[in-house]
Amino acid sequence: MKLSQRVTGLTASPTLQVKAEATRLQEQGVDVLDFGPGEPDFDTPAAIRSAAKDALDAGDTHYGPAAGKAALREALAQHVNRNHGGNWNSSEVLVGVGGKGVLFLLMQTLLDPGDEVLIYAPYWVSFPAQVRLAGGRPVFLATDAQQGFIADPQQAAAAIGPRTRAIILNSPCNPSGAVIPPDALRAFARLAAQHDLWLISDETYDRFVYPGYEFLSCAALREPCGDRLVLVNSFSKTYAMTGWRVGYALGPRQVIAGLTRLQSHDATHPTSFAQAAAVVALESDDAPVREMLEEYTRRRKVILQGLASVPGMECPTPGGAFYAFPDVRELCRRTGCSSSQELAVRLLQDAQVAVVPGEAFGCEGFLRLSYALSVPRIEEGIRRLRAFAEGN
Ligand code: PLP
Repeated sequence: MKLSQRVTGLTASPTLQVKAEATRLQEQGVDVLDFGPGEPDFDTPAAIRSAAKDALDAGDTHYGPAAGKAALREALAQHVNRNHGGNWNSSEVLVGVGGKGVLFLLMQTLLDPGDEVLIYAPYWVSFPAQVRLAGGRPVFLATDAQQGFIADPQQAAAAIGPRTRAIILNSPCNPSGAVIPPDALRAFARLAAQHDLWLISDETYDRFVYPGYEFLSCAALREPCGDRLVLVNSFSKTYAMTGWRVGYALGPRQVIAGLTRLQSHDATHPTSFAQAAAVVALESDDAPVREMLEEYTRRRKVILQGLASVPGMECPTPGGAFYAFPDVRELCRRTGCSSSQELAVRLLQDAQVAVVPGEAFGCEGFLRLSYALSVPRIEEGIRRLRAFAEGN
């Protein structure tokens, strides 16, 4: 059966593949310790759930505007202005089907075949796939674990060529947790303006930044960017709303208009009553988000201490998000694994521990462990990892 070339060369998202394999084993009764999922294990806060139920009961079940509900676009512009600045208005906001859906449409909107996009590795799995699906060419820039995986603007400056159209930044980063310092972000903004490039800033994890790290939203850098900024964010992680599929972009009006035309032929818009609840998420008391951050802070301490006790693993400290990204090259050597991919397979088979190999993020020799799971489960996972590494 012949499928398009576009899809024939495409593999499913590796993080979702790990989830599928872990679920398959769990369904067979295996107690899999699952460090795989990139999603909060918390329930969506009660006020948001009630708002969705109320919207359903009020008959909010019809088609709406392709750029998203006016009330939500307005609430998002206000929210970003209040928290980060930038003087955005609602015509500069698009609501889409998760951050993933928004980024997909964005690549289709900004890129022509052969256009290059600079992407720092380790990177979120879908960036390169989405660039390629738009006919673009990802150009990878490696970051250094010793330097905390921080994206270096000078490296981007040196990589800019005649076809470069965009730079993608993701701070805090999935998978490394790196938080790009404000000065570096300012340098990226100047670079975008100087070279007429799009600066795409994925700020999905902006609310999960740990003490000692300074997060700056690129929303505040709109001016130095020379209006070449597109900011992408999502309700998924902040409000534990992964299944609701609501994300958004802020950018120049023409870009938002292009995204809207595309979305009008694609999903049309995210689910109407999920959007109604998203307005309430922005307007409600922030306490549940702060509580999630406190809990992640506790878990981060447990997992970092635990990983430090596993022979052959060395884990840089993540500044944000909820992932540990240890260097496992020494563990691979000790256990005779030729790659972190092979190590991940062995860990699932021999220790019933699910992790995502660094290859998925363009960074061989590392593993991603999500700590969006309870402290006792993290401790049990560490026990299994240690037993595996010690050959027991
Ligand atoms: N961007 C980053 C960096 C992510 O880690 C994710 C999800 O894992 C997304 C975007 C997309 O999230 P969603 O589509 O659920 O909003």
